[in-house]
Formats: sequence, C-alpha cells, structure tokens
Amino acid sequence: MRELYRALSSVFPKDRISEDEAVLAGYSADSSIPPGFSAAPSAVVLPVTVEEVKHLLQIADRFRIPVTPLARGSNIAGMAVPVQGGIVADLRLMNKIIEINKDAAYALVEPGVTFHELSAELKKAGFFCHLPTAAGGSSPLANYLMRPSGNFSAGWDPDPLLSLEVVTPQAGIIKTGSASFETAGWRARYHCFPDVTGLFANSYGTLGIVTKGAVKIFDRGEEERLILTTFNSFPPAVEYMKNIVRRNLAQSVTFWTWGWNVFHEMMRAKSEKMPPEMLKPDQKTPPPGIPFGIASARVSGYREVVEAQQNVMIRLARELGGDFMEEDEAREKHPGCYEYLKAYFVEGIHPKPGEESQIRAGLHLPGCLLSAEPRNVIEIEKFMWNLAEKHFKPPYFYRALPYCHAREFFFAFVVYVTGSLIEEREYLQHLKGIYGKLYRDLLRNYGGVMFRYRKDPAFFGMTGTYGELVRNIKKLVDPNNIMNPGMLLF
Ligand SMILES: Cc1cc2nc3c(=O)[nH]c(=O)nc-3n(C[C@H](O)[C@H](O)[C@H](O)COP(=O)(O)OP(=O)(O)OC[C@H]3O[C@@H](n4cnc5c(N)ncnc54)[C@H](O)[C@@H]3O)c2cc1C
Repeated sequence: MRELYRALSSVFPKDRISEDEAVLAGYSADSSIPPGFSAAPSAVVLPVTVEEVKHLLQIADRFRIPVTPLARGSNIAGMAVPVQGGIVADLRLMNKIIEINKDAAYALVEPGVTFHELSAELKKAGFFCHLPTAAGGSSPLANYLMRPSGNFSAGWDPDPLLSLEVVTPQAGIIKTGSASFETAGWRARYHCFPDVTGLFANSYGTLGIVTKGAVKIFDRGEEERLILTTFNSFPPAVEYMKNIVRRNLAQSVTFWTWGWNVFHEMMRAKSEKMPPEMLKPDQKTPPPGIPFGIASARVSGYREVVEAQQNVMIRLARELGGDFMEEDEAREKHPGCYEYLKAYFVEGIHPKPGEESQIRAGLHLPGCLLSAEPRNVIEIEKFMWNLAEKHFKPPYFYRALPYCHAREFFFAFVVYVTGSLIEEREYLQHLKGIYGKLYRDLLRNYGGVMFRYRKDPAFFGMTGTYGELVRNIKKLVDPNNIMNPGMLLF
C-alpha cells in the first residue's frame, strides 16, 4: 500500500489524494448500504484532467487494485461504494460545462457537473435537459450513463447520450460517436460504424471512466406548460399516456399515485411529521378530495400548437374516464404538489428531500424499479398492491412513465421508510429479503426487467450469448478486472 500511495502521489498533489480514515469512511456507505456493511477504500483521489485519470488507471492496473468511479454518489443502489476496497476516483472536481452548443443542441460536460448547474446554464441559453426525479446535486452524465427515468423520458429515445470520452485500464482513451473522428464534433451518437457509446451505458463503471460526454439538450420553445389530468385507477392512465406519447402530444408524462402527491405537500411544508392519511392501512383508496393519481405532462413549442395539444389531451383524458385539473385549482387545492410538478416539469429544477427540504424521515425510499410493456405494467401494479398489503407497512406509492413511443413503461413502487434508526434498519433488511427474489419472479411472470442492476449474480447469468460477448469485451479493456469489481457483473 505504501508503494501504491507513493505512485499515486507522483500524479496527484496532496490536497487531491487522501488515506485519512475519517475521509475514507464517508465513501463506504450510501443510502442503501448503512455504515459498517462495506469495506472502506484504501485511498481516494480527485482527478481534474483526463491525463490524470489515465495515469490513475495505469497505476491501479499495475498494482491490481480496484477502482470505483464516483460522480456525485447519489445513486441509491450501492453502485459507487467500493465493496472490495481499493481506490475511489471521486470525479466531483471534473466539473466543467465545456460547451453548450445551441446550433447542434448538445452540451459537452464533465462527470462532476450537477443537474442544478447544467439546468441553470441551459435555461439562460433557452434550453432544457432531461431531468430524473433525483436530487439536483446528482450528475447528468452519470445519470444518463445509467439510463435515466424522468421528465423527458417520453420525448426522446430513452437515451440522451451522444459522444463520450472514456479512459479504460488497457485500451487507453477512447472517443465514441462522431467524436471518434477528430473533425466531426461531439454532436452524434451514431456514424457509419458500430455504436460504442452504448457499450458504456449501464456498465456502472465496470469498463472504464467517462471523462466527458455530449448530451442532448432541448429547445424550451415559445410556450411551456404543465398539463394535469386525474384518474381513479391505473389502466386508463396507462392508455392515456400511451396515446399521448405515440401521437406526439407531449414531450413527457408521468403518473403519480396520491401518496406521492401528499409527499410533495410535505416537502413544501418542510415538515418531518407524516400526515395521518399517509399511514392509513388502505393505501389504495385516496383520502377524500384527493385523486387516486395525477398524470403530469410537459408540453412546449409554438403557442398555437401547445394550445391545440392541450385541448386534445383534455378530450382524451375525459374519453377515458379521467378529468382535467386547471392550474388554478391545482395551485389552490394541492399547492405543494402543484409547485413541485411545475418546478420540475417546466422550470427544470429539483426540489428534493435531503437537499432542499429538511425532511429526515424519508431518506430511505427503497423501491422495486422495473421496465415492462404497457399491458404487463398493469398486471405488475396489481401484483405489487397485493404484495404490499401482505409485507409492507404504509406508506407506499408508485409512479409510472412511458418511454419514447410508449412501447415500455418505467414503474417504481416505493416504500417510505420511517421510524427510529434501528426500526429503519430492521425494516430495510426485511425489504431487502423480499426484493431479492422478486426481480426474478417479475421477469419470469411479467417480462418486467429490473431497472438498473441490483447486484443479483443470477441476473447477468441469464443473458446467454449476449453476456458472453460483453464478458469478452471486458477482457479486452479491463483484463485484470480492476474496474468497480463487486458489482457482480463481471
Ligand atoms: C431521492 C432520489 C431519487 C432518485 N430518483 C431518480 C429518478 O427518478 N430517475 C433516475 O433516473 N434516477 C433517480 N435517482 C438515482 C440517481 O439520480 C442516479 O443514480 C444518479 O444520477 C447517478 O448518481 P450520481 O450522479 O451521483 O452518480 P454516482 O452515484 O456517483 O455513480 C453511479 C454509478 O455510475 C458509475 N459512474 C459514475 N460516474 C462515472 C463515470 N464518469 N464513468 C464511469 N462510471 C461512472 C459509478 O461507479 C456508479 O456505479 C434518484 C436518487 C435519489 C437519491
């Protein structure tokens, strides 16, 4: 370890390298891995240039030491916790917005840039980026590398990534997409050869470190609107979302059950006190005066077109048995929910617990996150309510949103964990036991695929020849398996 530290010190100045136990302990836990459950790393380094990242991976490869990349550490699945120890490459100082290209509609960013920073700069330029409902302090590049779910999922193919620059332990620095040609710019994901950007998506830091990337940005248009429609059950809401996406009526739409909407009221009140209705045993039936669920959609563009789109969406919702909620009514009756949805879908900012509010209870929102085709997502909803009644404690709720062309839906059933720290820990362990087998059952019975990898060794093994090919590629770029081992992917 002494020699390793000496080698790292030849590249990194003292203030960007640490082996202080107190510092390292902070990297051994996240909101899914409580302190004491995972090994602490041996060192943390904070690179600022691609050359430094290259030297770091060369040294680590020589010493056969694991490297875990961390952008902002806000994932909620232990994916940047160095379970096998080694070095954490904390990328937060690689935080430059290198270019906002209004002509070709992309932004070139480093991994340490946050959503707050990118959204604010884009707004000045009249643009908007895809936002997950994650904390604004998380990284667009890291989020997009994990296939995001959020406010533009409907309006773009589920992938805002274009060209990337990636450093690998043995294949050196690779540029993908149009950037693989020196003079073609960063504007395109595809050119005339195979797509390599996609290889690094959903690889969770196991193939290399992405040091910069071009991401799609979207013109805000002359008019931006939030359109709220209410539904008494899930099936008509799915039909509504499917139709408005397939017919290009909205850039985005998400359905939230009433628990989420009450949760948004709590966020606004900055309260830690759970409203009693959120704890009632029957979680399926909303309290009086609150709709079962709200579909919130973003529409933007030319004023006349937006007006027409809104009229068609209202007609469609009513034909399906739903209703339209005027902005004034939403503002008056559900102010927290309205403010949250407006800020998120229209302004492009993230009011989130843990960052912008003081809610302590609710730091844990363990969820069952899946993607499935429209009819199966309806079956999965029924299955999850039944499971919850048997095994979960209130409150619990879900949200669902369609991806481009609405051929598949993202579905997140979330349990809000409250109580003392000991109670929280016991309940989280109980939930972990249930989730362990759940994903395999949902895949088998409903074709529901785990959204993001939850470290189930059996899962990657189920992919057959696809898995073999990916393992062979891994051998080319990282034969010593130093990149984020313990993810159980390789
Ligand atoms: C309250 C809350 C709600 C959330 N809701 C949503 C949601 O609605 N939709 C959604 O999509 N996400 C959601 N998330 C998840 C979260 O936004 C993403 O996981 C996150 O953006 C990625 O976190 P990060 O940017 O901090 O990256 P990290 O947590 O630092 O890293 C994530 C993974 O990517 C790898 N990685 C990071 N940077 C690089 C790099 N440069 N090169 C290679 N590998 C890298 C890491 O090793 C790790 O495996 C939520 C998170 C929270 C806390």
